[in-house]
Amino acid sequence: MTRRVLVLGGTGEARQLAAALVDDGVDVLSSLAGRVADPRLPAGAVRVGGFGGAAGLTAWLHAHPVRAVVDVTHPFASTMTASAATAAERTGMPLLRLQRPGWAPEPGDDWRWVDSMEQAAAAVAGLGSVFLTTGRKSLDAFAGLPARCLVRSVDPPEPPLPERTVVVLARGPFTVEEELALMREHGVEAVVSKDSGGAMTAAKLTAARVLGIPVVLVRRPPVPEGVPVVGTVEEAVAWVRAQAG
Ligand code: NAP
Repeated sequence: MTRRVLVLGGTGEARQLAAALVDDGVDVLSSLAGRVADPRLPAGAVRVGGFGGAAGLTAWLHAHPVRAVVDVTHPFASTMTASAATAAERTGMPLLRLQRPGWAPEPGDDWRWVDSMEQAAAAVAGLGSVFLTTGRKSLDAFAGLPARCLVRSVDPPEPPLPERTVVVLARGPFTVEEELALMREHGVEAVVSKDSGGAMTAAKLTAARVLGIPVVLVRRPPVPEGVPVVGTVEEAVAWVRAQAG
């Protein structure tokens, strides 16, 4: 029997990869951080909760018969990605990063690139109403904003929040029509987003283009040096097949 493949998940691509590997006869264990109260579960086996940093993951890899790790966490889950790189180096475990490509602007887009949440907050400081789509964990960077801040999340965000925050609890994906309706209802003047990439959360970008409002985009953190990166589930399946069982 071939040993398990550990998929570090929490994304749609991770669920797609788990399903594709199970279809391919691979014994898959998906790992979820446990942040979302009611997560969509992938095919195959699932474990939930952090490993305890790079040291914890190193110990976990020593203790469990895994043959390879595919890091399919979100492009901005940089702590987990760094831990995986360190633990793989320490244990000699084959590691692949599957990361969807970032977004590219289309004609009519007014995108303003920044390197951090703090820079994003500075970029919208003079506006009256902004749509913060950077995730509920990043909101402290916007806490000093005087603007009305529209925040949408699956679970309620925790303080510190901008003083004039309006929270909408909802789980995507959302259509362009839904995004347009929400942005019009709240008089949104700019959208703030991470460069997450992918189709699941791209409707807000189209809606911003239609409304003629700017999008402030936070650049991705770099992938740790030496870790191979692919952009599609198919490439990740091929990589797993190439690993010794
Ligand atoms: P992060 O900052 O890189 O991770 C923080 C800690 O959470 C890690 O150090 C690790 O704890 C634990 N963790 C993260 N992903 C894990 C996984 N797949 N399995 C087990 N433990 C995990 O990550 P994050 O940005 O908080 O994201 C948390 C989860 O949500 C990830 O699975 C990510 O794919 C998903 N997600 C994130 C975003 C985003 O924008 N950041 C968006 C959508 C989904 P230990 O150090 O204890 O191991």
